[in-house]
Amino acid sequence: MTSPLLHLDQAHVWHPFHQAKLSPSPIPIIKAEGLYLYDENGKTYMDLMSSWWVMIHGHSHPVLAEAIAEQARTLAHVMFANFTHKPAVDLAQAITSRLPSLFTRVFFSDNGSNAVEIALKMAHQYFYNQGDRTRNRFVALEGGYHGDTFGAMSVGKTSGYYTPFHHFLFQVDFFPYPETWMDDTQIDEKEAAALAHSEAFFKAHGQETIALIMEPFMQGASGMRLCRPSFINALMEQAQAHGVLIIFDEVMTGFGRTGTLFAAEQLPSPPDFICLSKGLTGGILPLALTVCTDEIYNAFASIQSAKTFLHGHTFTANPIGCAAALASLALFEEQHYLEKIKDMEQIHREGLDKIRQYSFVKHPRVCGAIAAWTFTDPRIPAAFTAACLQRGLFLRPLGTSAYLMPPYIITPEQLTTVYNDLCAILDDLSKTLSGLDTETNTETNTDTTCSPPDLFI
Ligand SMILES: *Cc1c(COP(=O)(O)O)cnc(C)c1O
Repeated sequence: MTSPLLHLDQAHVWHPFHQAKLSPSPIPIIKAEGLYLYDENGKTYMDLMSSWWVMIHGHSHPVLAEAIAEQARTLAHVMFANFTHKPAVDLAQAITSRLPSLFTRVFFSDNGSNAVEIALKMAHQYFYNQGDRTRNRFVALEGGYHGDTFGAMSVGKTSGYYTPFHHFLFQVDFFPYPETWMDDTQIDEKEAAALAHSEAFFKAHGQETIALIMEPFMQGASGMRLCRPSFINALMEQAQAHGVLIIFDEVMTGFGRTGTLFAAEQLPSPPDFICLSKGLTGGILPLALTVCTDEIYNAFASIQSAKTFLHGHTFTANPIGCAAALASLALFEEQHYLEKIKDMEQIHREGLDKIRQYSFVKHPRVCGAIAAWTFTDPRIPAAFTAACLQRGLFLRPLGTSAYLMPPYIITPEQLTTVYNDLCAILDDLSKTLSGLDTETNTETNTDTTCSPPDLFI
């Protein structure tokens, strides 16, 4: 029996990354609290991916709810061209004060894709404003995902999502991405090869290159692909030697996911731009920031109006969003999340030690609050997800990779229980799989290897 809500949904709503004829129907959710989502029939699901990586404090946090209610009663919105307001100023101050001192400026927008577009445009105009017309290309890392608008798609072209649009995307060069995992014995060779490639590129084209954009340490949407900070550092040194700007897309990695407030902190030298969004408001409102250095800003500050950065969104610096971000940042620090994330990382490691025992699991990897692994058999992710849902655990694998990115409020006991439940699910799956392997006709199964939903975020 279809619920009336689902019936209307199916008549009128178009969901993101959803293939109507293949994807499972969306589940009507009527409320959410803490770690849990509640559906129409009273079933609960533990949200182990923080609702697309945003809900760092869990759902419906009363402190955040109060902060936005209060702001809505005081100043819900005002256009940000002629006006300014305390929530935006306080947030800009709060974020820049937590970054190296050369980061002084914050440009507001409302989603991660826009934060990236803004960084790309600023980087280009930075050189343009100085009369430099030779720099006209961007570089990115293979597999990087930066959002779904055209500039973001161009630098994320190799993430696998944009085939119908390839002919519209501007030209970007991509560097190999030496992804790694626990007990990876080849990593030194992979990194050396990648760095030789980028070095040769910069030798030939460094002076023509505007910026290098990357997701530091963990590529999210292309499958939670990890690399070593020392590699990122070496790559940045190459780029910076040629005057190439560095854009860190920390839309996913920001706000503790890699074990520090921002991934950039783990490196000896900072990038030129940092893009933030997902965890910024604790997941309750859309808001994004492009943070840049004084050096960048000064190339725009001028008595020549032609040097203006002519970019803005209607809801730039929405006060309610800013109030949520300020409350979220205060909670983050009051609750000592960075310490909790250390404990979480330890439990992830212990959990993965169990999960990696299954013959169909490879490449276990952990980075701060994120744990991931890859299934060797493409038939598994869909069955695994369905079994998890049935047990009340919400996960959404990316291709053949599964991952856990829980809200930081999860307790060590709860997370340990999750791993035990996952092992029970994998036990069942191994039985089903050995049954499948003995069947003579597996043709229908091999068909699903590259079915589009397997690739979806
Ligand atoms: C999600 C994401 C984006 C896009 O953000 P939206 O808010 O979905 O537009 C960009 N970069 C990274 C690394 C992301 O994870």
